[in-house]
Amino acid sequence: MQEYHNETFLMAQQQLDEVAELMNLETGIHERLRYPRKALLVSVPIKLDNGQTRVFSGYRVQHDQTLGPTKGGIRFHHEVNLGEVAALAMWMTWKCSLLNLPYGGAKGGVCCFPEEMSVGEQERLARRYTTEILSIIGPEKDIPAPDMYTNERTMAWIMDTYSNFVGYAVPGVVTGKPVNVGGSLGRGEATGRGVSYLTTRALEKLQWGIEHPTAAIQGFGNVGSVTAKYLDQQGVTVCAVSDVHGAIYNPKGLDIPNLMKYVKDNGTIVGFDGSEKIDGSQLLELPVDILVPAAVANVITEKNADKIQAKLIVEGANGPCTPEADRILLKKDVFIIPGILANAGGVVVSYFEWVQDIQHLFWKEEEVTEKLYYLMGRSFDEVYHLSQTKGVDTRTAAMMIGVGRVAAAKSLRGLYP
Ligand code: GLU
Repeated sequence: MQEYHNETFLMAQQQLDEVAELMNLETGIHERLRYPRKALLVSVPIKLDNGQTRVFSGYRVQHDQTLGPTKGGIRFHHEVNLGEVAALAMWMTWKCSLLNLPYGGAKGGVCCFPEEMSVGEQERLARRYTTEILSIIGPEKDIPAPDMYTNERTMAWIMDTYSNFVGYAVPGVVTGKPVNVGGSLGRGEATGRGVSYLTTRALEKLQWGIEHPTAAIQGFGNVGSVTAKYLDQQGVTVCAVSDVHGAIYNPKGLDIPNLMKYVKDNGTIVGFDGSEKIDGSQLLELPVDILVPAAVANVITEKNADKIQAKLIVEGANGPCTPEADRILLKKDVFIIPGILANAGGVVVSYFEWVQDIQHLFWKEEEVTEKLYYLMGRSFDEVYHLSQTKGVDTRTAAMMIGVGRVAAAKSLRGLYP
């Protein structure tokens, strides 16, 4: 299927092929997992504020439905294309299965420059996109959520559009909604909380004896900023962060609570007091213990992997390390918490939100967070244990568990018809 082929999709497929071989996966099942089950390409026309009409390309890809309805975010970004969305949908399948969630993976996106669009334009885009994919989403079918440049407001528009179509309120069609319309407490911070929780858990497990760990975080959006907040609270010195405008560094540590305030007022991290502006690419190569890539895919490649000094990489983003980079990092004994585990906090609390919506019964934030840490901790331990017993790296171990559960279910269900 030529239509999916791009760099990110081929990378996701290569990761699957490698573990399939290692696990002796049945050829038929492996073959069925190599491509998405369904992909929808839609044109999304909207009226711009200046009166002109523009048509954007939108996608929704459902990779696998073996374990339940499909689940995954929607991103508004100028690099969105079918192959990338398909790769992200595949990763969602492994992520949900690894965390034992009763879901398959999906992803959606609209190719656009959201930073240049007004709130009104974004609303029209979200609503028309929802209308175009309406026939394949639903609380029992496919449940979208936020991703890059979409947020709880976008989710409220999606919920409203879907609900108006069917004629009654359907909060369970989408997760990551505002609490007032059926969202869950603790969903907004869930991904960053999960990233920071696993970072500390890994440091405990690895017993490197680092007294005052230091970290650099690439990306200061929902994932990066919340990770910084909690790492800081847990006693990790966050020395560098970056956003689309640039990167800042202070080897002695950045004042994270004040930086969060600064970003609220200024819309960027750049220019923050007590920091030196550095190159975005430099951030990845700083002399720190922990590196959290929490922005886009393919940032650690064979070109820079050798220059990375951190000993622990926690993938807040989806797919930040290429397979070539993985091989180099492995040789350098870098411990990686792979994205399908590290950033799973978002979808875990999305699952809790969906369960609460279906039951019409809502939980306290402490309950949400406690359950989040329990699921994340359990999966981390499973991955660590498998990597130790099988002598494989952590990404391979995580994939083996994720792929293994889907494959086992596929084998039990058999091939329809
Ligand atoms: N977009 C997030 C992810 O990549 C969350 C998905 C969800 O909550 O369904 O995991």
